[in-house]
Amino acid sequence: MLGLAKVAATVGGVDFIHKEPRPPRPDEALVEVRAAGLCGSDISIWKWPPHLAKRVPIPCILGHEAGGRVVEIGSRVSRVKVGDNVSLESHVYCGTCYQCLTDRAHLCVVKTAPGVDFDGVFARYVTVPASILWVNDADFPAELGALMEPFGIGVHASLEGSGVSGLTVAVSGCGPIGMMNVATARALGAVKVIAIEPLAIRRKAALEMGADLAIDPTGEDVRAKVRDATRGRGADVVIEYSGSVEGFRTCIDILTPGGDLRLCATPVYPIEYDFTIWKAKRPTIINIHGRRIWSTWVRAADLLRERRVDLSPLLSHVMPLSEGMRAFEAVFAGEALKPILIP
Ligand SMILES: [Zn+2]
Ligand SMILES: [Zn+2]
Repeated sequence: MLGLAKVAATVGGVDFIHKEPRPPRPDEALVEVRAAGLCGSDISIWKWPPHLAKRVPIPCILGHEAGGRVVEIGSRVSRVKVGDNVSLESHVYCGTCYQCLTDRAHLCVVKTAPGVDFDGVFARYVTVPASILWVNDADFPAELGALMEPFGIGVHASLEGSGVSGLTVAVSGCGPIGMMNVATARALGAVKVIAIEPLAIRRKAALEMGADLAIDPTGEDVRAKVRDATRGRGADVVIEYSGSVEGFRTCIDILTPGGDLRLCATPVYPIEYDFTIWKAKRPTIINIHGRRIWSTWVRAADLLRERRVDLSPLLSHVMPLSEGMRAFEAVFAGEALKPILIP
């Protein structure tokens, strides 16, 4: 089969390879990939920072967001059966470490991921532990199946801490997940949703997905705009996806004292911060990583099944896997929100 893979330990170094699918071991399943999402993590592997250079084997078929169908299961697998319409949780958790035993499997200390530590989903077939398969309704579209994993981050972020119901929520950084978070906050009962995003195409999509207001941090005064939109109070919940120093500082400035700051993006460098501002604000800071397994998935599936969230504005670039290189280019050019590859 054709697989889009990291083939060289350099910046870029992504190309197609031929590799046969691996038969499942006793605890694994072979999944026919029907749709796969190109994620920021795949872009990071393309860029090849040191922490990924140490981790990713070469060659490695990329991709960890997928919807597909189970075509073969190992002898010990009982939680899925052949024919099931599935999505992949991208975190392979061990089930026995302290975090896994205390309802924090998303923070498993030995977790691995398809498309990062072993062959992923940018191919016709992928072999994964059956423990990371989520069974969708039989008629659930594969393109949405591929979005379940990133969507789950927005759902997770919306449900933590004070939740969003009845509150004013600001989302800083509207890449695909920030945008999905806008829609989720709206669906879960936020009274006002404010999107903060420099790219015009994304601000437009954020408004389509339920934001009341979309602010351009490069051309507008975010602090004043949020103040005006919240009767001077500031936002109750600020969810940070930009990963930038300015984004982080803005988030604290626009938060109401005692509000929730939920950090989804992970800055890769230290941030200097004036803690006297902090003392005045006393924010509750919550780190969001991945999805709670499986409680986030249950809520995420309900939101899509009951059509409370419409993710179709994200499906602007559905293309054959054979055009996968173009999908990377479309992201680099800022044209595509979330390319979906069809093997
Ligand atoms: Zn992802
Ligand atoms: Zn574990």
